[in-house]
Amino acid sequence: MNYKQILKDIHKEVSALKNTGEVASYIPELAKVDKDQFGIYLNNIHGDNFEVGDADIKFSIQSVSKVFSLAMAFGSQGNKLWERVDVEPSGNPFNHLSLLEREKGIPRNPLINSGAIVVADCLVSTLKNPKEDFLQFVRDLANDQTIDFDYDVAASEKATGFKNYAIANLLKSFDNLANPVEEVLDFYFHQCSIAMNCKQLSNAFFAFANHGKCMQNNTQIKPKQAKRINAIMLTCGFYDEAGEFAFEVGLPGKSGVGGGIVALLPNEFVITTWSPALNEKGNSYYGMQALERFTTETNSSIF
Ligand code: GLN
Repeated sequence: MNYKQILKDIHKEVSALKNTGEVASYIPELAKVDKDQFGIYLNNIHGDNFEVGDADIKFSIQSVSKVFSLAMAFGSQGNKLWERVDVEPSGNPFNHLSLLEREKGIPRNPLINSGAIVVADCLVSTLKNPKEDFLQFVRDLANDQTIDFDYDVAASEKATGFKNYAIANLLKSFDNLANPVEEVLDFYFHQCSIAMNCKQLSNAFFAFANHGKCMQNNTQIKPKQAKRINAIMLTCGFYDEAGEFAFEVGLPGKSGVGGGIVALLPNEFVITTWSPALNEKGNSYYGMQALERFTTETNSSIF
């Protein structure tokens, strides 16, 4: 497969489309990003890699970080985690509240905000130095010790994340948050603020495409847990656009409001796209376009 040429062509075709998306502005720091940046990076199981466009510019990974926190909490808690968070798609926006109230404080899944806040609470309870230990986990997955939080983005979300405060308070009222709201959200805002580029994200997700083994060949995630996390990405990774992503792209994946999307085909490859302008569901407009073209042209979805 001539990935180099395919990615180059897709990048060119998609860049020519009118970019109808908008940069996320509810986190003021994210609104400063130039909306026309666009990068793609693919690494495959054989160790080859290909990149095009702005693949080495760092961006805020935001909700993509929920996959890392899930992997860490699932690793330490095992199936006990599912007593506090479910594994069903929500069909609702990522920061939706009313379903959480109706379902008595048990979030639909760990990849919407409410579920990720419960996962953050587990990590705050079990890790010695929660933020540092989590960051180290991500650095080790990516084999890159330069990865860091973006403290301006974390502070920006802390100042304006009213919906997340509402979610955390609702969880607390249902007794599904063990630690103080402030402490859990401080962790959550920092995990979302991590800055990475397409290359680093593709490397960090390699383990999910490789039965839990990262690029250095050590097991970071148990194989049976990698399988389950991929299933959750497929059914819940794109909020109320999860069905559309499965329909158009057909891969497990995760998006974030920083404009990143990571998708993977187990035993084959990881592909990361980044373009900060989002569609109305909060997923990168160019990223969705590029991934649909990629899996259709290469005939490489899980279906
Ligand atoms: N930090 C963001 C929030 O909680 C993450 C949302 C996202 O990327 N979809 O609103």
